[in-house]
Amino acid sequence: MKKGLVIKTTGNWYSVKDENNLIFECNIKGNFRIKDIKSTNPIAIGDYVDFYTVKQPGNDSRETGIITEIHERKNYIVRRSQNLSKQAHIIAANIDQAFLVVTIDSPVTTTTFIDRFLASAEAYRIPVTLVFNKIDLYNAIQKDILKKLKTLYEGIGYYCISTSVINNTGITDLHSLMAGKINVLNGHSGVGKSSLINRLQPGLNLKIREISDSHNTGKHTTTNSEMYELDFGGFIIDTPGIKAYGMLDMEAWEISHYFREIFKVSKNCAYKNCTHTHEPECAVKQEVIIGNIAESRYISYLGLLEKDEKYRLGY
Ligand code: GDP
Ligand code: ZN
Repeated sequence: MKKGLVIKTTGNWYSVKDENNLIFECNIKGNFRIKDIKSTNPIAIGDYVDFYTVKQPGNDSRETGIITEIHERKNYIVRRSQNLSKQAHIIAANIDQAFLVVTIDSPVTTTTFIDRFLASAEAYRIPVTLVFNKIDLYNAIQKDILKKLKTLYEGIGYYCISTSVINNTGITDLHSLMAGKINVLNGHSGVGKSSLINRLQPGLNLKIREISDSHNTGKHTTTNSEMYELDFGGFIIDTPGIKAYGMLDMEAWEISHYFREIFKVSKNCAYKNCTHTHEPECAVKQEVIIGNIAESRYISYLGLLEKDEKYRLGY
């Protein structure tokens, strides 16, 4: 029996890299069911599996593999299926950290988008670094916005770096952050994810632009995911078309757990399960008024609560 890491999925075939760095094309034995989650795919990239190999008949000396066991996952990220079954599609498992690539301009990344992503990553317990890309393009005003956003997110405890693929800014920082880990790269289409990956790992030659565009309109069920191995150690996962990790059903009071600074002060609210909307003596609302909690963060929080418009306007 061999142990390996799933690095690519194509239909029912899984490319599994064993401990000697050999890659076997494998499929699954029997019917795999994963506890607690209804997913459309039983195995995802990043999964560690046990498998045995079988020789192909004939002169072909090729060996393929049969997966018998999947190891317990440290974490996984999902996307809800597009159909009504509410099943989840597992994008990847065992992720060490995520990088959210953000641009101030072309395209604009809103704080709502950033906060939604950060909250979903918190829910999956995946640390996030914010990567502000295309800094070569910014004028004085955009540089000022960049500075403010960095101050905001660093204040909450998120590591931020500035990058430019054009000027090679921040690329060595990204190298050292990613080395030896399973990294996932997210962000809007067009922010430069493929460009950054190509710069980090020359030779991969990911298609610029086209990848994200085709996946945005493509059928989600046929999307194949792949992890790219980095020469300096570790892997990078490109997730075309993923906006935020799918939030599985969550109670209102739970959402505030995923906004670090909101959660921190919520223990001072008068009500134990305060949703920080209409309740009196709410410490969170107080901190927003004072300015200790950014208004943009509070608005993002309310947006996730999906409460009535009145809450959004009337705090
Ligand atoms: P993706 O959709 O996130 O993978 O984005 P791409 O890597 O396809 O990049 C989208 C566009 O932005 C391409 O035209 C890139 O050449 C451009 N781009 C990427 N990074 C930078 C950067 O740091 N500076 C500038 N000026 N353009 C960039
Ligand atoms: Zn409260």
